[in-house]
Amino acid sequence: MSEVQTVKPTVIQVQGLSYSYGEGRVVLSDVEFEVAEGERVALVGPSGAGKSTLLMHLNGLLPGQLPRDTERASVVVSGVPVRKSSVAEVRRLVGFVFQDPDDQLFCPTVREDVGFGPLNLGLSRSEVVQRISDSLELVGLSGFENRSTLQLSTGERKRVCLAGVLACQPQVLVLDEPFANLDPRARRGLIQILREFSGAQVIATHDLEFVVELCDRVIILDDGNVKADGPVRDVLSDGCLITKHGLEVPWGLRAER
Ligand code: ADP
Repeated sequence: MSEVQTVKPTVIQVQGLSYSYGEGRVVLSDVEFEVAEGERVALVGPSGAGKSTLLMHLNGLLPGQLPRDTERASVVVSGVPVRKSSVAEVRRLVGFVFQDPDDQLFCPTVREDVGFGPLNLGLSRSEVVQRISDSLELVGLSGFENRSTLQLSTGERKRVCLAGVLACQPQVLVLDEPFANLDPRARRGLIQILREFSGAQVIATHDLEFVVELCDRVIILDDGNVKADGPVRDVLSDGCLITKHGLEVPWGLRAER
């Protein structure tokens, strides 16, 4: 009897994506990949490969070169082409967590910061209060509502950023180096939060042990090109491939070689 496989709908489709900053050199060149509903995809590669630039395209964070309505969009999220006119809608679908909390946090208190997104969605006061409370609980920061965002540790600040994004209930989470500067306990806590999020996730990281533990698929990006895209164990246990792109076979896969 043949096995019935359920094909999950695509939530992110990237096709022919190329990008340069201003007149500078090409940073992304003809990038193509898809992400299915609920899939957790790691984006790895050396520094300067174009990972952050690619992630920013997933919710229109580089507005200068976004296509107009008449132009073909290189990125489509849940059927919505990412264009100048759709950027607000796309940002509701895709929650983005920056590597540096300083790029994300701007309100004086945790409550205001986490509530900013839900308020902008036009939700009622009571719904906003509920979302703040629920998302702070999710990231283990219940009771932090009145704390100043400036007086928190890096790990706590990262969790506030994540709470703010989760409070908007996005379909897709995009995270840029979420484990940078986290101690092992904070890293473990964050892995648990990501494990519990049921939507699709695209995560740029150098933490290959995390990739082995939690991700379904990995994409190697180098010099603005996709060099490999496949199941984590297949890609990351190929020592020849990954050392070529400045990476090392993670400990968890060394015995399997
Ligand atoms: P990664 O996240 O893989 O480290 P980035 O996307 O940050 O790579 O950077 C890719 C390339 O784009 C690098 O050469 C970097 O110097 C360049 N770059 C990044 N941001 C800018 C910017 N705002 N202006 C000009 N060049 C940039």
